[in-house]
Amino acid sequence: MSSRLEITELERPALETALAKRGQPKFRAQQIVAWIYQRGITDFAAMSDLPHDLRQQLGAEFSVTTPSIASRHISEDGTQKFLLRLTDGAQIESVFIPDTPAMTFCISTQVGCAMACAFCLTGKMGLTRNLTAGEIAGQVRVLADALDMRDRAFNVVLMGMGEPLHNYDETMKALRILGDEKGLALPARRVTLSTVGLLPALEKLGREPYMPNLAISLHAPTDAQRGELVPINKKWGVEEIIAACRQFPVRKRSRITFEYVLLAGVNDSPEDARRLAKLMAGMKSKVNIIPLNAAAGIPFERPSEERIDEFARILSERGVLVSVRKSRGRDIRAACGQLIVEGQRPSPAQRLATIAFS
Ligand code: SAH
Repeated sequence: MSSRLEITELERPALETALAKRGQPKFRAQQIVAWIYQRGITDFAAMSDLPHDLRQQLGAEFSVTTPSIASRHISEDGTQKFLLRLTDGAQIESVFIPDTPAMTFCISTQVGCAMACAFCLTGKMGLTRNLTAGEIAGQVRVLADALDMRDRAFNVVLMGMGEPLHNYDETMKALRILGDEKGLALPARRVTLSTVGLLPALEKLGREPYMPNLAISLHAPTDAQRGELVPINKKWGVEEIIAACRQFPVRKRSRITFEYVLLAGVNDSPEDARRLAKLMAGMKSKVNIIPLNAAAGIPFERPSEERIDEFARILSERGVLVSVRKSRGRDIRAACGQLIVEGQRPSPAQRLATIAFS
């Protein structure tokens, strides 16, 4: 077991403190962060603007860990799914979605997920563990390197495996690390956090200095329907979430996205669309309809194209901004709700323990 300090788990002020204890000035932390996040260099010996002695000391007392690529699949549409292996052997998935029109990295915040949404494959895994901030931010480093995109602009969506607000502290720390102006300098407006709406955490998010765009996985306009699809709705219901969203400090020219997985005969009626439009009234919002990505073991069906169009039309006639998400990477199981790592299902007891959080 190494007792070395893992740099990817440190925000720059903490790295500065660790270096100050070793008699090093602050700018050394900036240099190290630039090597790791701007140039993708994680070997201290190669950090050529650091004094030779310091490089040796860093090698002895610090480490820089990066998730390794266990496999990589490329879809017909250019989407790429990365299966990443972490130091303890746990595996997660990260997805690269090109030209939407921006380049987008979809990253995970947990190994598995405790939310158990009825239509989501990741939900079937249960939660194995939270990711650390370094593991969350590390996915962005891995993808940027593998895709040779270090010098290009990209968006990051926290829409992979896991519920980001159920791993609040590490997720926010990861975003601050990614946002560090001396490192990747990822602007908050390029980040979208998607959540089922854990209310206390959602309210806390509204007070963060580094404020990502917000997407809410709503999926139904009434508690009766949503409770069947998103179990945590029994704790924090539709009205409460909508009220919190109305209070949420939305950036200028920005909107809250409401994701709505359309399920045939469950939440896709004209009445559902009208109810949804009412919830959206007067809010800086947009609705992103996600026609179900069907999978074995998911007891729902995707509605017909006519049904999808009608649902979207009803919203749009009522002044709601609406888009229908084109499914990407379905052939490699990289699409929404299709991320699952086989052989990683926790025991039923473990699963129950993780669902009974706070
Ligand atoms: N836990 C967060 C982050 C996951 S985002 C959240 O729920 O928002 C993944 C998005 O894909 C969510 O909106 C989720 O509801 C949606 N999704 C899950 N399963 C899906 C499926 N089978 N088909 C289409 N979308 C799905």
